[in-house]
Amino acid sequence: LTRQEEFYVIILGLDNAGKTTLLERIKTMYTGVRGLSPDKIGPTVGMNLGKIDIGRSRIKFWDLGGQRDLHSIWERYYPESHAIIFVIDATDRARLEECRQTFEKVMLRDEVEGVPVLMLANKQDLPVAMPVEEIKETFNKIAVDLGARESKVMPVSALAGDGVRDSVEWLYSRLQ
Ligand code: GDP
Repeated sequence: LTRQEEFYVIILGLDNAGKTTLLERIKTMYTGVRGLSPDKIGPTVGMNLGKIDIGRSRIKFWDLGGQRDLHSIWERYYPESHAIIFVIDATDRARLEECRQTFEKVMLRDEVEGVPVLMLANKQDLPVAMPVEEIKETFNKIAVDLGARESKVMPVSALAGDGVRDSVEWLYSRLQ
């Protein structure tokens, strides 16, 4: 009997990006257990946890809050994390610069060096969402320049579920 491998993934991003919605969507997709319905999801105060089994592995997700005063908490999780998901609200052009700066700060941390980074251009179900190419240009450059071992920007709708399975699979393949 081989021991199941366990991986830890942290889900980061500004408040309102869709981190909690994403985690609930992942849980529903992979465990068949319905998570919180979207109208029950409020701002993340502490953190939300989710675990899924995929292949022979178990992935544990931490959805850390996105409010500014919680960003310092993120740092405690970097050393334990095998991968990072950074969720971007693709409809929020007004906060794109704040989002970019926040991402850059994450990537500048030593503990993050060499870890696979998945950036999700979320809320693609809304017509006002920025195209993934636009987000790619800005964010993937930061990831590459600042030493991500692997990085990718993918379009998703955490709410509708589009792209979520593909993104989990990308992540899983990079954890092996
Ligand atoms: P968090 O603060 O990053 O955890 O964000 P939440 O998961 O609480 O989501 C913030 C708001 O955005 C909620 O009203 C969600 O229903 C909404 N939201 C999240 N993901 C999507 C999405 O893919 N599409 C749309 N249209 N709304 C979304």
